[in-house]
Amino acid sequence: MKFVSDNLGVNEQGNLTIGNVDTVKLAKKYGTPLYVMDEDEIRKNCQMFQKSIDTYYDGQGMVCYASKAFSCKEIYRVMQSENMGIDMVSGGELYTAVQAGFDVSKACFHGNNKTDAELEMTLEYGVGRIVVDNAYEMERLNRIATKKGVVAPILLRITPGVDAHTHYFIRTGQIDSKFGFTLETGEAFEAVQRAIACDHLDLLGLHCHIGSQILDTTGFVAGAETMMQFILQLKEKLNFEIRDLNLGGGFGICYTQADDPPTYDIYMRDVAAIINVFCTDHQLKRPFILIEPGRSIAAPAGITLYTVGGKKTIPNVRTYVSVDGGMCDNPRYILYQSAYDALVANKADKPKTEIVTIAGKCCESGDLIGENMEIQSVDAGDIIAVCATGAYNYSMSSNYNRLQKPAVIFIKNGEDRLVVKRESLDDLIRCDI
Ligand SMILES: *Cc1c(COP(=O)(O)O)cnc(C)c1O
Repeated sequence: MKFVSDNLGVNEQGNLTIGNVDTVKLAKKYGTPLYVMDEDEIRKNCQMFQKSIDTYYDGQGMVCYASKAFSCKEIYRVMQSENMGIDMVSGGELYTAVQAGFDVSKACFHGNNKTDAELEMTLEYGVGRIVVDNAYEMERLNRIATKKGVVAPILLRITPGVDAHTHYFIRTGQIDSKFGFTLETGEAFEAVQRAIACDHLDLLGLHCHIGSQILDTTGFVAGAETMMQFILQLKEKLNFEIRDLNLGGGFGICYTQADDPPTYDIYMRDVAAIINVFCTDHQLKRPFILIEPGRSIAAPAGITLYTVGGKKTIPNVRTYVSVDGGMCDNPRYILYQSAYDALVANKADKPKTEIVTIAGKCCESGDLIGENMEIQSVDAGDIIAVCATGAYNYSMSSNYNRLQKPAVIFIKNGEDRLVVKRESLDDLIRCDI
């Protein structure tokens, strides 16, 4: 059996394992649906990215985990212990990180519509880099920083006009985007001038993020090249040299056997090559590089376990297999028709002999985990594992149909521990008056 992540395996009982822990036992111990995250895999992925900066860019950079991919207190503790930076996009993520003891001087704060309250929080907590998205926000931040008598460390989010080859909803680098200052129109250049003129803003550098689940390096290289051209233009026309260049995230992962992403270090290799040559050719100071992988750190580390409740075969149409979760714990199918690999955890040693549609339990026909999925012979009571669900599943989960959010457990050194409790019925009515 070939798995989409190398931390999955099969034990002597024929059960699926993650990080050498029996998933069927986990389902019994904690109940289903259940998110299981392999902490060793998360740490390994962080270290791979860090090592790529050491190898190809003399360590002159920082890896910031994009915590929107998977956010809870424990992940910020793991990131702190791995000496990682963090990318965050809301007061809620910032609060969670601070509560977990994360040093937010290593945080980048994003978002195309940050509230005044969020901007105030970033200054109060000492966020290291606030990524300003638009002119309105720049004025607001300058005003808030002035009132507080502080100088806000900022980057400007630039839309480089790079069209990444990925799903329309997760493309962000093209001109038609809600994010950032546009390069082509001159908006970005004006924004730099304005930022330099603001007494209470310290312009550290620039940021771009071209999209997500990108499976080759051409878009990243094009993005880096465009940004370097702009950096050169700023030096020549404004005599202003930036210190930071944040190249965003978006590195693709293997969801099914059809995906073939390059190994993570290839991104840094290709991007660093362009930047190094460009800086030498134009006598520019090499910028401090930040990268923001989210999915590629968290997704391969996670699986979701469900219990099968029933099966419905419609002759010559399809077979539905119903599980005890769905779009409320994994909305990626209903959002993007995302493909996943699934298997019967308690028959993981058996060949896949059926083609089924895995349906959730919500009152939406589109509430599916996937259509026409190859799987072992499956029946009520079986445990289904859906692979590579560590990113954008728990963080995008909802209480639709008043379903309780599942528990999250972490696996480390072959031991399991609870890091997010399963929601109770009382949790569901906690805010109701
Ligand atoms: C979403 C996002 C990321 C992370 O993207 P992944 O595809 O999860 O790596 C990084 N930076 C910014 C600004 C983002 O919005």
